Amino acid sequence: MIQTLQAVRGMNDILPDEAEIWESFEDIVRDWLKSYGYRPIRIPIVEPEPLFHRAIGEITDIVEKEMYAFEDALNGERLALRPEGTAGCVRAAIQHSLVAANGPQRLYYHGPMFRHERPQKGRYRQFHQIGAEALGFAGPDIDAELIIMGARLWEQFGLTGIRLEINSLGSAEERTNHRAALVAYLESNRDKLDEDAQRRLHTNPLRILDSKNPAMQETAGAAPKLIDYLGEESRAHFETVQSLLREAGIPFRINHRLVRGLDYYNRTVFEWVSDRLGAQGTVCAGGRYDGLVEQLGGKPMPAAGFAMGIERLLALWRESGEAECAVERPIPDVYVTHWGERTQHLAFRAAEALRDVGFDVLLHCGGGSFKSQMKKADASGASLALVIGEDEVAADEIGIKPLRNGDEQHRVSFQALPEMVANAIYGNETHQDHDPPGENGLGAENGSI
Ligand code: ATP
Ligand code: MG
Repeated sequence: MIQTLQAVRGMNDILPDEAEIWESFEDIVRDWLKSYGYRPIRIPIVEPEPLFHRAIGEITDIVEKEMYAFEDALNGERLALRPEGTAGCVRAAIQHSLVAANGPQRLYYHGPMFRHERPQKGRYRQFHQIGAEALGFAGPDIDAELIIMGARLWEQFGLTGIRLEINSLGSAEERTNHRAALVAYLESNRDKLDEDAQRRLHTNPLRILDSKNPAMQETAGAAPKLIDYLGEESRAHFETVQSLLREAGIPFRINHRLVRGLDYYNRTVFEWVSDRLGAQGTVCAGGRYDGLVEQLGGKPMPAAGFAMGIERLLALWRESGEAECAVERPIPDVYVTHWGERTQHLAFRAAEALRDVGFDVLLHCGGGSFKSQMKKADASGASLALVIGEDEVAADEIGIKPLRNGDEQHRVSFQALPEMVANAIYGNETHQDHDPPGENGLGAENGSI
């Protein structure tokens, strides 16, 4: 017997019932991004591996142990499946001189990311992110706006209990000053450090602060705080972000251990966290990354952004009960039945004529008796069925059978079909009373995209 194949561990199929929820989710997200002036950018899933080493940093979970990196079998080039989107987005902006040619940019991307992690609820090897990147903006205003955007999105999804944590990482110089104090402190507490922390003590001590190991919390909590090492400018920047958040009525907590898992951040960093998702509680994370563009070979340019985890947000949205209300399950307007030898052409023509004016039409395929086709028509949820037998073909007419309101079946000419279908579905009200079906104004409900 041939063994069936399974998807790669940690990489999920998203089946139609679920995928429809994803599409509704993405529609809302797209409108929300547009309302803040963000424009889409589409970047490759595969990038040169060195891009991520340079952008994310060598001593990070992602680069050390989570990257799907491989050699191109044809030319030996080192490639990687993207573990996140910021690096590729910035690479593209530099490569195409987006900011140099057009000024500051608000960009967004969405799509699959890949990290070789231990799969569990809310943590997958292929997962999806929506990311926003604001390139060329230096001030605290854009940091605050990026955060305020999140609050609005949670509200639009009806999600409550997502709390905001912020911190400032200062500048590279400020971090160097803090680092000396941090290393001294950690060295004097060496016996309390776990294996990861021991290893990072001299390579990336800051990262020890956001250790997920509960045994490390106390030691990390009592470590010297970065915020005490901020200079005038960083302090003022952080203050303005906070005052804009207060003004917007968004509560936040300063978390001194929030240093983010990636190397490229400076100044403002933030995370939106839910308690409803267990250990995988962060739904959105971001901050300022002024050094990244230069680090990737571009002219120095300030930047800030965030990425949110779609799976985690969807889990919250579903749990809230709002997702099922918002999702559009496709129900056809019309189900076309036909039986008998010469009916197929007319059935196809009728279905296309109705689609021309914006109706959603399910054409029965696969034959079968009139009775079995009517059963399918009924089960489809369509408002009415077209009935096409040999008699109808001979007369170039089509039967219209309302399925939901007990109205009589009647026959109409092919020419009159769109008008009569509209009447059968909407009664004699004017068609403008209904959602316009595209340009045609015939009143069919149209899909969302
Ligand atoms: P975590 O601390 O949960 O590992 P991270 O700091 O590695 O998160 P980021 O790189 O900041 O995550 O990615 C932004 C968001 O993408 C996260 O807040 C989360 O919502 C989502 N995310 C990250 N990794 C995964 C994953 N393996 N599976 C599902 N979602 C993920
Ligand atoms: Mg991670």
